[in-house]
Amino acid sequence: MKLYKIKKSKIDNNGLYANQNIKKGTKIIEYKGKIISVKQSEVSSKFDNGKAIYLFNINKKYDLDGDFKFNTARLINHSCDPNCEVFGSGLKIWVYAMKNIKKGEELSYDYGFSYDDDYKDYPCRCGAKSCAGYIVRQGSRWRIKKKRK
Ligand SMILES: [Zn+2]
Repeated sequence: MKLYKIKKSKIDNNGLYANQNIKKGTKIIEYKGKIISVKQSEVSSKFDNGKAIYLFNINKKYDLDGDFKFNTARLINHSCDPNCEVFGSGLKIWVYAMKNIKKGEELSYDYGFSYDDDYKDYPCRCGAKSCAGYIVRQGSRWRIKKKRK
């Protein structure tokens, strides 16, 4: 049985939901895509805006572009209080449970956008108590709080 199912999300569009209780540390789904060289991703207009949601850096030489329909993991939404983490292992990327997840909970991870002047174009609707209001990674959130005053 798959650990997840696709369902309409409260956060945004479709999301992935736990299909059973998932223990912390479990590999849930592979983040599939095409391996491209870092040089390619740097010059490609596809990743121009620096907010390449589906682009992961694998190592010094390679990135993984997950912007494909066959990559089910791309449906996982961002949350400011996520229950999943994304890790690379060799040239593969996996989504892991970073806490115990109950059946029926939506899967989420921190998209890890860095702070940018256009952060207001990326509002967050994750609903977490600690929601920053915008999709910005944890280490960058203090900047927004400062700016909002
Ligand atoms: Zn949020």
